[in-house]
Amino acid sequence: MNLIKHLFVSIFICVVLSNTTSMAQVILVRDGKAYAVVVTADDATATARYAAGELVGHVEKATGVRLETVTESDAPADIHTRVYIGETKTGPHHGIDPGRLPREAFILRSVGNDLFIVGKEDDGDPLDPSNPNAGTLFGVYEFLEEVLKVRWLWPGELGTYVPVATAVEVNAINRLHSPALNFRELVWGPVRGLIHGGKIEEEDALLGFSHDVAHNYAGALSVFLRRHRMGGMDAKPPTGHGFSGWWQRYGREHPEWFSLRRDGTRGDPDPEAVHVDICVTNEELQDFIVEQWDGESVLRLGPVDRPGRCTCEECRSWDGPQPETPPWFAKYVYEADSRASEVFHGATSDRYARFWKTIQEKARERNPHVIVSGSFIYENEFPAPVTGIRLNKNIYAEFVQWQDPHLRWFPMPEEAYEWIKEQWLGWQNTGLRMGYRPNYLHDGYVMPHFETRQSGDFFKWAFEHGMEGARFDSNTGQWAVHGPRLYMHMRLISKPEIEIGEIRDEYFSAFGPAAENVEHYFNYWEDFAFDNVLNFIDMFHNPRVGWRYRAYPLKAHEAFPLEVIEQAEEILDRALEKALTSSKKEYAGRVEFLRIGLDHARLTINLASIFDGNSTVPEGRMEEAGEALRELVKFRKDNQESYFSDLLRVTNYWERPRWDLDNLIKSTMTGE
Ligand SMILES: [Zn+2]
Repeated sequence: MNLIKHLFVSIFICVVLSNTTSMAQVILVRDGKAYAVVVTADDATATARYAAGELVGHVEKATGVRLETVTESDAPADIHTRVYIGETKTGPHHGIDPGRLPREAFILRSVGNDLFIVGKEDDGDPLDPSNPNAGTLFGVYEFLEEVLKVRWLWPGELGTYVPVATAVEVNAINRLHSPALNFRELVWGPVRGLIHGGKIEEEDALLGFSHDVAHNYAGALSVFLRRHRMGGMDAKPPTGHGFSGWWQRYGREHPEWFSLRRDGTRGDPDPEAVHVDICVTNEELQDFIVEQWDGESVLRLGPVDRPGRCTCEECRSWDGPQPETPPWFAKYVYEADSRASEVFHGATSDRYARFWKTIQEKARERNPHVIVSGSFIYENEFPAPVTGIRLNKNIYAEFVQWQDPHLRWFPMPEEAYEWIKEQWLGWQNTGLRMGYRPNYLHDGYVMPHFETRQSGDFFKWAFEHGMEGARFDSNTGQWAVHGPRLYMHMRLISKPEIEIGEIRDEYFSAFGPAAENVEHYFNYWEDFAFDNVLNFIDMFHNPRVGWRYRAYPLKAHEAFPLEVIEQAEEILDRALEKALTSSKKEYAGRVEFLRIGLDHARLTINLASIFDGNSTVPEGRMEEAGEALRELVKFRKDNQESYFSDLLRVTNYWERPRWDLDNLIKSTMTGE
């Protein structure tokens, strides 16, 4: 498939935006007039109709001209260009056969003056990320990005940047394209649930998004993510912590199947413990794993969701040698932390790689084509194997950097970054199939804490080294403070070949005359993140505080002193002045959007400084806390419709679990 992809991409000939040339054949709009109609089949699918709407809407936004959409039977013969969207009766007359296209692929081809944008279609929902028959829609998005230079920065109208154009013309085009990555997702669980009838809790509605705005945001986000071609999820091999819960189910009857502890007992003193490692060398257990499998589906062998492994002699003999001196930034990969010191801590990658292969060999007796999912390259299995073990393309696993605090977040110390690349490379060299499933987007809370340089570089590097797909946990939706980071991930997931600098320029261009100032603004924050890498790690390196991804509200005020915010405000003031020199109000609107994010960070810092690392308001400060909360909530309600922040994520994921806000609400906001 890759060969076909590259072959056809090179035939993509020439695109003209606002200059008319005598060569132009396909003309949608010229001199402010419609030269084309959009044509769909008489019985067009929902995907084709939706795709046609997306094309018409964006062309109108760019040119002010609204193209007419007609069905194939009504398509006029005397119009200059017909843009055929989706499967039609006309396409096959020109050799366009969507039935032969790979999943998610599309053809973008001019025939005379007409244009065909066609992928495979069915009755599925065009916005469903598990629907692989959305090629037609992806083709329209490709056209909008390449020809109109449309940029989707964040969900909603203001985040949609469509440069003004007086003409939309294409010389000649013939392109077949499928996504570079097989599956592409930024997990957005809580908000996504709203689309399928979910509701938000009253406490969240009181503090963040109102009910109706939350639902509108979910809808806008769903559209936005598909515009960035998120999807392919039906192609992702299943993953999971395959043996979590086994101790509860089988521990009493077969304690010998579970990890041997240093005190000589098996499993866990708590019979209800969920994440208890198995003894992978136990042959009876191995046979049972194959027996209980249905013989068809992917055989899932993901380790439990907790570090610490079996200490038995046999299991240890499957491990490679441990480093004499673990790298300073990878201490917790190799050494026990307080959670489970009674079991083995160190690299068990060779052990698990051999286990996956052993089970695969046994399972082949039932199904020679069995695919084994090791699930996660994670915790004790994170360091690359060192025994030279060879795996194969029927073994799949996903790379999750999530161990020592130095390895969890971008930016990270440069040495840690290089070491992480080595682990990816080492795993890739075993010959298994690899996906990328990082957690670092959980970071940053509502603060302007982010970067693009390392994470973008790593993404591209991993793509060049065998990354099959990417699924990120999680899209926290802090669009105004993490804008370039989120936009970069959208773009890389859709097109990993684009250069980071180019992606950043696309983002900044949406600010018109303020582009340079906005770049300066975000560089200011990226520099702050890099300059303080170790400070940020140390700040949360305290068991009382908890892990940074969820405990961030406890330290927000320490992480971001007000004088740092004030300097950033000055940069934005200058950006706004620049943006206002344009008659197009959208540029200033976007700078103001960034300002909402920064003002929101400031108001949040105000509340965080009163809690001061505690979960309850310190004595004597209740009135002050009430005032800070009222001000913050009012600001959220006044600005929520801009979608500057996924406020459901803010309240539900970060704030309510950390701060006793229910109590504060009762005493200050509802007057009880
Ligand atoms: Zn063992």
